[in-house]
Amino acid sequence: VNYAPFTLLPSTVPRALFEQAYAVQQDFNLLVDAISQNKEFLEHTLASTVKVDDFTARLFRIHVQVLEEGLAQSVFLGINRSDYMFDCGVDGTPALKQIEINTIAASFGGLTSRTAAVHGQVLKVLGKSEEVSRLLPNNPASGLASGIAKAWELYGSPSAVVMFLVEEIQRNIFDQRCIENELWNRNIRVIRRRFRDVFEKGSLDGARRLYMDGQEVAVVYYREGYVPKNYDQQNWEPRLLLERSRAVKCPDIATQLAGTKKVQQELSRPGTLERLLPGRPEAVARIRATFAGLYSLDMGEEGDKIAAMAIADPERFVLKPQREGGGNNLYGEELRQVLEKIRDSPERTSYILMDKIKPQPAPNYLLRAHSPLRVSECISELGIFGVYIRQGKEMVMNEAAGHLLRTKATEHADGGVAAGVAVLDTPFLV
Ligand code: ADP
Ligand code: MG
Repeated sequence: VNYAPFTLLPSTVPRALFEQAYAVQQDFNLLVDAISQNKEFLEHTLASTVKVDDFTARLFRIHVQVLEEGLAQSVFLGINRSDYMFDCGVDGTPALKQIEINTIAASFGGLTSRTAAVHGQVLKVLGKSEEVSRLLPNNPASGLASGIAKAWELYGSPSAVVMFLVEEIQRNIFDQRCIENELWNRNIRVIRRRFRDVFEKGSLDGARRLYMDGQEVAVVYYREGYVPKNYDQQNWEPRLLLERSRAVKCPDIATQLAGTKKVQQELSRPGTLERLLPGRPEAVARIRATFAGLYSLDMGEEGDKIAAMAIADPERFVLKPQREGGGNNLYGEELRQVLEKIRDSPERTSYILMDKIKPQPAPNYLLRAHSPLRVSECISELGIFGVYIRQGKEMVMNEAAGHLLRTKATEHADGGVAAGVAVLDTPFLV
């Protein structure tokens, strides 16, 4: 057991951008939910990707299969985290730019519910009590649990349980326990199971109610299932079983697909947001203001042009495959080499290109078990948790549920706390 890594000091965050990120979260919730219900959009957007990316293809096949059978699920729970960096424009004014939105297993809401207290303590020791009073309260653990609890209630079977679907080896268990304990405090039973357990002991009854070890499951909260290594052949079967069930999946497979990087890239095309959110021009404007440049590498002239541009100037871009969890993106010289190799092959369509965001670094200490202590030049990534519930066609909950600030040394191009790069932080608004 190690402590979760954290910064010694809170990092400054421009207040206006922090507020902007909160203000757009309900719009993003609506958008993700709209995409998840739009079969044609998902099909069209992922068409080129599923041809070359086996993982996305398998997820997509389950999506199609459950739609063909007809959904048994009528309550939909989304828990997402929209991540941003503060891009320094040419004049030095920082702007809020979205890195990505995570629609499955968005983590660290539990642990980060405690980081403000840690930083409050550090500031007190340093004699900075005025600054302590300016740290914001933040409790995503409670916010996320409220969503799960509400979905459980709407499912309508008081004896049913919430099932956390977890990895074989779970390094981040304490983050999950924070949310789990919030549910126990609301008198909701929680069980923790792996795909393998579902394979061995999961079943559906005639009404496609999900049972595990004889207990009915109201909500399945995935903290696994978002990367290929989570699935051996045996795990695809239980995934399909869960998706076919009546239980509230957080997220259902369509919502997971809505969080792919290919979808993110398509959203930036002129007119797409307007089509997905008709009659909501203000939401569209708030969302679009957070977009960085995103580019398709689909075969054809548009893709050829952008591939050539990135090869000529790789420092301007990030090359992203359809993967989650950190450590998958390509930058700089490596980006150039890979893109050069695949530029004329359909393989390039499994990636998207994105403008590289360049935040202003600031010094901090990154505290990590068994690592020497030294000051680093750091940049931060702000995440806002979103929680929403739809019952049939009606939104019955739509909220921003707290934030996460992760900070890393500038020598790392990629990020992620679980990936061992970023550490937990607390925003100090300026
Ligand atoms: P993942 O699904 O692996 O988390 P992300 O899109 O969040 O993928 O990228 C991982 C990390 O790479 C981010 O946390 C961030 O540090 C860095 N990164 C991603 N996109 C950009 C970008 N456009 N500009 C600068 N850094 C980026
Ligand atoms: Mg990320």
